[in-house]
Amino acid sequence: MNHVVIGTLAFDSIETPFDRRERAVGGSATYFAHAASKFGPVGLVGVVGKDFPRAALADFEARGIDTAGVEHADGESFFWSCRYEADWNTRHTLETRLNVFAEFDPKIPDEYKGAEFVFLANAQPRIQMRALEQMTKPRLVVADTMNLWIENDLDDLRALLGRVDGLVLNDEEARMLSGEANLVRAAGRIVALGPKFVVLKKGEHGAFLLGENLRFALPAYPVEHVVDPTGAGDSFAGGFMGYLAHTGSLDPSSIRAAMLYGTVAASYCVEGFSIEELARHRRSSIDRRFDELRSFVTP
Ligand code: AMP
Repeated sequence: MNHVVIGTLAFDSIETPFDRRERAVGGSATYFAHAASKFGPVGLVGVVGKDFPRAALADFEARGIDTAGVEHADGESFFWSCRYEADWNTRHTLETRLNVFAEFDPKIPDEYKGAEFVFLANAQPRIQMRALEQMTKPRLVVADTMNLWIENDLDDLRALLGRVDGLVLNDEEARMLSGEANLVRAAGRIVALGPKFVVLKKGEHGAFLLGENLRFALPAYPVEHVVDPTGAGDSFAGGFMGYLAHTGSLDPSSIRAAMLYGTVAASYCVEGFSIEELARHRRSSIDRRFDELRSFVTP
């Protein structure tokens, strides 16, 4: 297994301006793995409680997501709920119940340890580090984080930043982590903490990558009917890493293409609740939207 993700498998209760869903299958690693699996196999490391549907895990397997790294614990699965404002970009977390994730100590299966491409999806930085320490020859390690860990676990997060190649986070989190309001300067400060590049996600305004030798910005794919933005960031990361793991190339043109693939994966994610839409599309529709997005952004 050359591509591995560590993160949450969850139940999400979501309230949008138009609709709501209770206890839909979600989690940072779930979204990532679904997007990444469009490009090739991906190994999933996480923990579920007794309540997580076995049928969901069987469906993951059918899509090329290896679940050998999913631990089954006694207790309830991670639970998260949120409400979106009418502008879609403002999200209020209503509740986070770590449940079985609170005691999670990731054990990377032997067959995943040599993976070259590693994504540390949103989780406590201590858990992300524990997972990374077990990997024997990572070539590209990218991490996600969020305001909760920037506020509560900054020392652990800083230690992690010294060990990763890339960090993905949203604009508000980048400002919080760096203490800089200007996003270019914020990204520069974060790069100075360790990662070679930062991907800043700006919701419907797209994403930009700032690295040592590369700067690249993209608008979001113009989606006509947003249903639920949950998981867009993780799906972006899955498309980005999935493409790079598949090509095995880290040159600037591959990284630019990966930004387009990430943007496309995120656009499918937001067209449905949970992983419904993302799961429905194959690599061929991803490629069609990739071509469309490319034509939108080239003169
Ligand atoms: P995103 O919309 O890309 O930020 O990802 C949302 C997903 O992250 C949801 O499916 C949640 O279950 C999961 N999530 C929310 N909060 C956390 C957290 N504190 N740690 C790990 N995963 C989380």
